[in-house]
Amino acid sequence: MRVVALYIDAQVADWPETASICSRFDGPIKTVATADEVYADVAAAKDPVRRGKQVLYLTRNKGAYIRQCPGTSHYTCCGYKILHVGTFCTMDCTYCILQSYFHPPVLQYFLNHADLNAELEQLFATRTIHRMGTGEFTDSLIWEPWTGLSEALIRKFAGQDCCALELKTKTTFIDTLLDLPHRRRTILAWSLNTERVIGSEEQGTASLGARLNAAARCAAQGYPLAFHFDPVVINDGCEAEYRRTVERLFAVIAPRHIVWISLGALRFMPDLKAVVQSRFPQSKIVYGEFIAGLDGKMRYFKPLRMKIYRAIAQAIRAHAPDVCLYFCMEDDEVWQDALGFRPADRGGLTRMLDDAAVRQCGLGNGSRLG
Ligand code: SF4
Repeated sequence: MRVVALYIDAQVADWPETASICSRFDGPIKTVATADEVYADVAAAKDPVRRGKQVLYLTRNKGAYIRQCPGTSHYTCCGYKILHVGTFCTMDCTYCILQSYFHPPVLQYFLNHADLNAELEQLFATRTIHRMGTGEFTDSLIWEPWTGLSEALIRKFAGQDCCALELKTKTTFIDTLLDLPHRRRTILAWSLNTERVIGSEEQGTASLGARLNAAARCAAQGYPLAFHFDPVVINDGCEAEYRRTVERLFAVIAPRHIVWISLGALRFMPDLKAVVQSRFPQSKIVYGEFIAGLDGKMRYFKPLRMKIYRAIAQAIRAHAPDVCLYFCMEDDEVWQDALGFRPADRGGLTRMLDDAAVRQCGLGNGSRLG
């Protein structure tokens, strides 16, 4: 979706990066004393979620840049850290939880990068293994048309040996990243889905073929890759369609390039349902066999999740028997059923993923730090 208006927080109005972003923006620009005017603009729209994707607000991150991923109680979480560089997204997936997460939802980009760098330096100095990503409250690469964020982060992470950065996207904005000296400390990651789900539920995103082609170009430049089958959507014929997606993945990407692959079935807080029904009346995505999980999120009935997970895992294992395959927010029963082991059998999920990052990104020079 095209950004049609730019608001600038007066506190960052005379910062060099503000001028740089303004020079790449073609549309009305307004400096505001507080965020209230931006929120009022978005809230007054007929579809505030849509308007929130068309209005970019440049401001400061007034909280911490590095945050612990909230995870979910009762399900196995992976100890990931979030790098909070901005919020919301210019693409428009029907199932996007961000639609009901922010009130109101606004595309914000944070400019106080001296604070970001100070927090990173502090973390790097601990010399302990960490995995982190920018793709939790936004898509990691949507900022490329206006900013040099990814380049700066890739260079920053290349200068240390204990943290892996994951840039997760549904775009193909990789041209400016290909020739950077990344030292394999940055993982470029794509969310994958079936052609049908991408076509009907992921508006404004790159096609499956385009995502895989972008991933192959990054692999050719030595970047480690990751893939996320998330959200897995259950509908008639989905097993064959997910198998087809797996086939297409391994037709262009050799397993040795892949750090990890995650699987996560569609899940959402109950209040998202009304948003999807109103914004995407043609979408059937919220009408599956859902039950409320222990964390209050709606999930497919467990036997259905296990069945589709078994099918996808089997297809992946046929091509990449040793790849680190994990579930986002599932319990031991699901792990055992679909993968044949529980995270605890391998030292826990955090340990599994840290070890994969050590191996593939060369953290700790290939061995775990203390
Ligand atoms: S790409 Fe990700 S962040 Fe953007 S709308 Fe889709 S789910 Fe939301």
